[in-house]
Amino acid sequence: MKNKEPTHICANCGFKGRPVKQTKGSFALELLLWIVFLIPGVAYTIWRMTTTQEVCPKCKTPNMLPLDTPKGRELEQSFLA
Ligand SMILES: [Zn+2]
Repeated sequence: MKNKEPTHICANCGFKGRPVKQTKGSFALELLLWIVFLIPGVAYTIWRMTTTQEVCPKCKTPNMLPLDTPKGRELEQSFLA
C-alpha cells in the first residue's frame, strides 16, 4: 500500500485521508503547572499523553472512520452522492 493513500474518512466533513495525532490541552498551561506546582505538572503531562487522539486534518474533529470497515464505506458513499 502506498503511503499517501487515504485510510480514513471524516464523518464530519467527508475528507478522505489520514488522521493526524493531536494532543488535548495546552503546552503553556503544562509549563505553568510545572513551574508553579510540580505535582500537578506531572499529572497534567500524563493526562495529555493519555488523551492523544486522531483527528481529521481538515476540520480537526476526532470523527474519522477507517475506510476498510462497512461503516467507513457507507460514509464514503453518502459523501459521493
Ligand atoms: Zn473533517
